[in-house]
Amino acid sequence: MLDINKIRADFPILTQKVNGKPLVYFDNGATSQKPQVVIDAISKYYQEINANIHRGVHTLSQLATDAYETSRGKIQSHINAKFAHEVLFTSGTTHGINLVTNGFAAILKPGDEILVSALEHHSNIVPWQMLCEKTGAVLRVIPMNQEGELIMSEYDALLSNKTKIVTVNHISNALGTVNPIKYMIDKAHEVGAAILIDGAQAVPHLKPDVQELDCDFYVFSGHKICGPTGTGILYGKEAWLNKLPPYQGGGEMIKEVSFEKTTYAELPHKFEAGTPNIAGGIALGTAVDYMNEVGFNNIQQQEKELLDYGTKRLLEIEGLKIFGTAKEKTSVISFNIEGIHPYDIGTIIDKLGIAVRTGHHCAQPIMTFFNIPGTIRASFAFYNTKEEIDLMVAAVKKAQLMLS
Ligand SMILES: *Cc1c(COP(=O)(O)O)cnc(C)c1O
Repeated sequence: MLDINKIRADFPILTQKVNGKPLVYFDNGATSQKPQVVIDAISKYYQEINANIHRGVHTLSQLATDAYETSRGKIQSHINAKFAHEVLFTSGTTHGINLVTNGFAAILKPGDEILVSALEHHSNIVPWQMLCEKTGAVLRVIPMNQEGELIMSEYDALLSNKTKIVTVNHISNALGTVNPIKYMIDKAHEVGAAILIDGAQAVPHLKPDVQELDCDFYVFSGHKICGPTGTGILYGKEAWLNKLPPYQGGGEMIKEVSFEKTTYAELPHKFEAGTPNIAGGIALGTAVDYMNEVGFNNIQQQEKELLDYGTKRLLEIEGLKIFGTAKEKTSVISFNIEGIHPYDIGTIIDKLGIAVRTGHHCAQPIMTFFNIPGTIRASFAFYNTKEEIDLMVAAVKKAQLMLS
């Protein structure tokens, strides 16, 4: 079991007061808080080894390069990628998805089909729509049911030899649904399609094994797993990364440049143009180490308790409805209270120190499906407590009284 007080002491921000009240941070789905070791890794880089990587022969450049590549290796072993060069540093999930859609522009033909799920974040919808506009490919949507689960029989029916790529999140940010991605990956491969998994909401809760999953691409952001903003990872199978053209041109991604012709660098550098977020990339490795030290079994156990307790306590509130009731879900509770706009509740409980997200959570099609303007979303991390849930429930009850 986790020593919750010890864990909380790792996160300096958690002792803050907001609007004169102790901070209750339940917006982990948007970004997680950072432990001191990650904050220290960033300042240590700037204080001790700041230099550009892969270029200089000088000592600091070598130290910075080593630290950056060590971090890539940590992430490789964390997700069990076969090769370190299959692990690309990005600025986040959005960047990773755009890198892949840009590459597929060179592959897709008019009439080819892309399958996207009804549960996606805008950043896993819009780049595919842009790709369709560019190539004449057609976007088709895997529907969901009232519980917020994707309907697998409909997925099976949509798959055909026209399907070139499937894109789906591992876990939904708006509802917390855990999707049956292993099944979806195997089915996509049966028709010869590639598949991209948006793991942005999965990596905070579990350790994906990309070889066991056998996915072609797996993307996530660093800032949702205790790492810095502006960092992320795109895992791609070597064969796919060799096949896709580079995303951005510039320094670092070339082998030789002349005005007649440029040849590209080997993986992973082909996709890492320009000076990257070196401090961030190094600190992301520290964040992954930190999460592993806490232990994903411990994380899951704590979060399951919070999910069960939070669900039970919130359902005590009259007129409260939870959206997203999948059998497999993570510690996200999306809810509304009859007759009250989610934004009004969010504003009042913020005055009481409670940080939740209100709105469409960058997933408007889900809100349209349920015919609601948005929800209040409480998303718990392993450093949250039942006492904090009690504070939220009391605050929501107070807001409900004030607003009705
Ligand atoms: C947060 C999130 C994204 C976007 O991540 P960025 O860090 O903003 O690029 C994409 N998909 C899901 C499921 C997310 O939760």
